[in-house]
Amino acid sequence: MRIPVQTPSHAYEVVIGSHHLTEAITSLASKIETADQLVVFTDEHVWALHGEHFSKAFPHPFKLHILAAGEACKTFDSYYAAQTFLLEQKCTRKSMLFAFGGGAVGDLTGFVAATFMRGIPFVQIPTTILAHDSAVGGKTAINHPLGKNMIGAFYQPEAVLYDIAFLASLPEKEVRSGMAEAIKHALISDEQWYEEFLTQDIQRLSEEQLAHYLERGITVKADIVSQDEQEHSVRKYLNFGHTYGHAIEAASGFGKLAHGEAIMIGMVYALLLSEKYGQLNRANTLEFLAFAQKNGYTFKPVHDFTFDTLLPYLMTDKKAEYGILQFVLLDEIGKPFVQKVTVEECREIDTLLRTIV
Ligand code: NAD
Ligand code: ZN
Repeated sequence: MRIPVQTPSHAYEVVIGSHHLTEAITSLASKIETADQLVVFTDEHVWALHGEHFSKAFPHPFKLHILAAGEACKTFDSYYAAQTFLLEQKCTRKSMLFAFGGGAVGDLTGFVAATFMRGIPFVQIPTTILAHDSAVGGKTAINHPLGKNMIGAFYQPEAVLYDIAFLASLPEKEVRSGMAEAIKHALISDEQWYEEFLTQDIQRLSEEQLAHYLERGITVKADIVSQDEQEHSVRKYLNFGHTYGHAIEAASGFGKLAHGEAIMIGMVYALLLSEKYGQLNRANTLEFLAFAQKNGYTFKPVHDFTFDTLLPYLMTDKKAEYGILQFVLLDEIGKPFVQKVTVEECREIDTLLRTIV
């Protein structure tokens, strides 16, 4: 399955399959043959689990740079060490990077690629469910101690090669994290798909079902970023659940709660707020909450913080301005819109959330 992504800056494909890595990389021959060096960035977990298979499947010689796993690879030190590695390997503007790992590896590799010698090509080879989201669309970034993803660039990959077989080793927490972004894609685009999603046990999807859901999620994302590469309009819809979710994620200390687990909390919050501005009602919110709880998502972090401790994090949202926050809400399932909301309204919804979770 091939899904085209056509942004003004670059056109490329997401190639989804199972055990198709050799074939997928071979199909990039015209791009690869002009590269003077191929460099693979991965993280220590992914390499321990899948390095042997990857080395056999990758049909060309490559240099390897192994990063710390998780957010630890998105630090300035890690970024600097990666640049040093490329310089020491005598990489040039004709070298090509491959990000083999989850969203963290993809974000770091993409930002290194965007800035090494003012930009070299890179390919995403995602290994998490969450990365069906992060690998597509060209947002790349590292973190700053004062904020996550604060230093970055829009920089599109040459291709995204998504081999579903790598997902089999994901722990349940990472499945929950990634599936939260998948259900977000359903919520903002398609009521029928969303209804079907609600009947699923996300830990027990067959490989075919998983591939199908990821294809749909990637198609939603690809369509949106093709219309609005740099988030001036419809790309904002992809932030559904992210305003409050990011605040919970940041207050918890990044890495404690998986990204998607925090976003699940943020989506319940956004649904409560949607009741006020759109046509959804409490039954819709409670149906979603029941799905989340049945699938093992935790809402305990909501009670770990007061609204006042979350507020500074809400206000550092890239979309906040002068005491007004911007939320993506749903008018109906599949019909997102952007709404300005005051801090006082945010507080009311926070109080309400605490009574239902
Ligand atoms: P991750 O890369 O940190 O992976 C999560 C954990 O799973 C890591 O410990 C990793 O080693 C491990 N892992 C990866 N693949 C595995 C596999 N196949 N089997 C077992 N373990 C595996 O993160 P993620 O959850 O994929 O993504 C989160 C990151 O993505 C965050 O940094 C977030 O900011 C970023 N993100 C970026 C975008 C974007 O548009 N660029 C969108 C969403 C999230
Ligand atoms: Zn997200």
